[in-house]
Amino acid sequence: MKELQERIRQEGQILSEKVLKVDSFLNHQVDTGLAVEIGKEFARLFAHEKITKVLTIEASGIQFAMATGIALGVPFVYAKKKKAITQGDVVYAASVHSFTKQETYQVTIVQSYLNKEDRILIVDDFLATGAALVGLADIVKASGATLVGVGCVIEKTFQEGRGLLEERQIPIQSLARISSMSPGHVDFIEETPLIPSLVTVASGNEDSPC
Ligand code: 5GP
Repeated sequence: MKELQERIRQEGQILSEKVLKVDSFLNHQVDTGLAVEIGKEFARLFAHEKITKVLTIEASGIQFAMATGIALGVPFVYAKKKKAITQGDVVYAASVHSFTKQETYQVTIVQSYLNKEDRILIVDDFLATGAALVGLADIVKASGATLVGVGCVIEKTFQEGRGLLEERQIPIQSLARISSMSPGHVDFIEETPLIPSLVTVASGNEDSPC
């Protein structure tokens, strides 16, 4: 997605060779127009999948799951990182190790929000080690629902996340795939469309330095 790549090049801060900060438009302050476009793009890429629900994990996936849910006309559900007393005991749970926070936490979803008939699209802001998305995929599996795929706003292809999801035969679509980054320089590689005729309208200018 060309606009997203341009914003990463213009505003992204490379904190280390593996950590990108995008707080000015995605992760802290959110460009709502861009978030809406991201939702539309995920809806377009998975339009053939008859999705009934979008799933994400709090906090930074919520705005993209909501935008995708609106574009698809379906609800979205977010996994909670802290179990609230209002949730009750009937939850699906998974342990997730956070790459950025360097801690392990439990994510939970109330069981009644995922059904066997559901066709789920998972959406998240980053695909890095894949721990968060694998945790969500395990929850979908435990619920008996069908996981149709994963949409990531930004993927760092030099980390192991995609490999872990592919081992589980989960289709992935990332809108900005970073192959390498260093201060002042970000390289992107193109995503392979799930359906060959679905060439990303908004992509382009791949592999060029910032
Ligand atoms: P995972 O390592 O499980 O794929 O990533 C888990 C979460 O860590 C992501 O959803 C995202 O919120 C955060 N994360 C991973 N890599 C980065 C990064 O480079 N920058 C930022 N801002 N967050 C990241």
